[in-house]
Amino acid sequence: MYSCTPASAAVLLETGSLCPVTTAIVGLASMMSVTEYQFAVAVAMLCGLMVGSFLNVVIYRVPRGISVARPRSFCPACKVPIRPLDNIPVLSWCLLRGRCRSCHAPISSRYLAVEVLTGIAWGMVTAWQLHGIALSVSKSLYDHIPQLAALLILVSVLVAAGGMIVDRVAS
Ligand SMILES: [Zn+2]
Repeated sequence: MYSCTPASAAVLLETGSLCPVTTAIVGLASMMSVTEYQFAVAVAMLCGLMVGSFLNVVIYRVPRGISVARPRSFCPACKVPIRPLDNIPVLSWCLLRGRCRSCHAPISSRYLAVEVLTGIAWGMVTAWQLHGIALSVSKSLYDHIPQLAALLILVSVLVAAGGMIVDRVAS
């Protein structure tokens, strides 16, 4: 019996009895330092949060036939444009305690959920793809970029579609 904890990995490396998870982590580390890997996943999560913020616009506007490009973000209750500082993913919703700064109308927790969900999904997809790159011997990082991009678009579309369905059921 052995566990896949990082502490036991060094011992297992010497004995050669690595579990698949540890083998994958060791393979990943040989291609990319752990710090670079974590950095890439963190950047993907931040990008996911920003994409999630845009998906909220899509979820609200597309079913109502409003352009997603213009006008800029506004409060659905009082229609006052949202200041850029009040439009920071997750942070603004938490600082404003889920209320509009102008009219204090509650802002649906769906906005927070979509941003968090998209951030997590982007981080997970990126971690999964980087994991695949580390295990692959024939492909370079650049060969994986179209697949990574396609998967990120796919999860974003799924989040947007899910958000629209939830909004429709809730209203
Ligand atoms: Zn308002």
